[in-house]
Amino acid sequence: MDIIRLVSEMQQRAISAQAAGQTISFVPTMGFLHQGHLSLIEEGRKKGDLLVLSIFVNPTQFGQGEDFEDYPRGLQQDSDLAQEAGVDIIFAPEASDMYPDGYATYVDVEGITDNLCGRSRPGHFRGVCTVVSKLFNIVQPQVAIFGNKDFQQLAVIRRITLDMNMPVEIVGMSIFRESDGLAMSSRNVYLTPELRKQALVLSQSLLKAKALVESGETDCATVISRLRESIACQPDARIDYVQICHQSTLADQDHIDIDSVLLLAVYVGNTRLIDNGYLVQNHD
Ligand code: AMP
Repeated sequence: MDIIRLVSEMQQRAISAQAAGQTISFVPTMGFLHQGHLSLIEEGRKKGDLLVLSIFVNPTQFGQGEDFEDYPRGLQQDSDLAQEAGVDIIFAPEASDMYPDGYATYVDVEGITDNLCGRSRPGHFRGVCTVVSKLFNIVQPQVAIFGNKDFQQLAVIRRITLDMNMPVEIVGMSIFRESDGLAMSSRNVYLTPELRKQALVLSQSLLKAKALVESGETDCATVISRLRESIACQPDARIDYVQICHQSTLADQDHIDIDSVLLLAVYVGNTRLIDNGYLVQNHD
């Protein structure tokens, strides 16, 4: 496994691989790898001859006062895990190489970025869309693997690749969870044992909503208010949003149907956690 730090070197490797007829599969991450990332890597291994994993904590997708500085990092441990998982290249660029002096180009996706995380984290998706577009140009993958954990991010990336005619297949993978249901996230390390318990309120909200729907409830407002009540019982939980949206437009819905996805963002202590799931069976 190679670790490439320079944008120019990574792009040259991609061009050579393409010329040699290799299929490049790509898993973009911010590192501090966990089982969720590894499930994407495993899928990437199946899909390409050359598997590239990027590790880049992208400054442009963090807002003021967010956790860019504190975001957990650990390249040594990440590279051990990546090597074991069959990654061919880790691409871990410096921010100064990705955004050199004079950098002035940003990619914005309209509409589906207005709701949910796009609303509570202004500028976040502009940063995500910009870095993913840049990474696609550098790594030149035929296939890129993302997690459904970041449901809106995946929808936005599908939108850019379609709108910009990018020749890359986007694959979405299901959410990898701890045995008690907590969605795996690099940010879970911020949680103390007490907050870790309270964080279960996200996955439990999904189960609760599914149970309500199974018992015949179809009114989104009713489900949302029941969830808000139970989240409010956790002393250190603060709701950012609890919404039920259409899976492709991400517009809020009034009534639950086959396309309904529950999306949650909740601060537990100072840690902002997200989770989501379809509400009508036969999706998950
Ligand atoms: P991150 O490093 O948090 O930016 O995530 C990199 C990729 O891993 C994104 O496509 C995420 O959606 C995906 N991912 C993060 N957590 C999980 C998880 N628990 N299960 C599946 N995919 C995940």
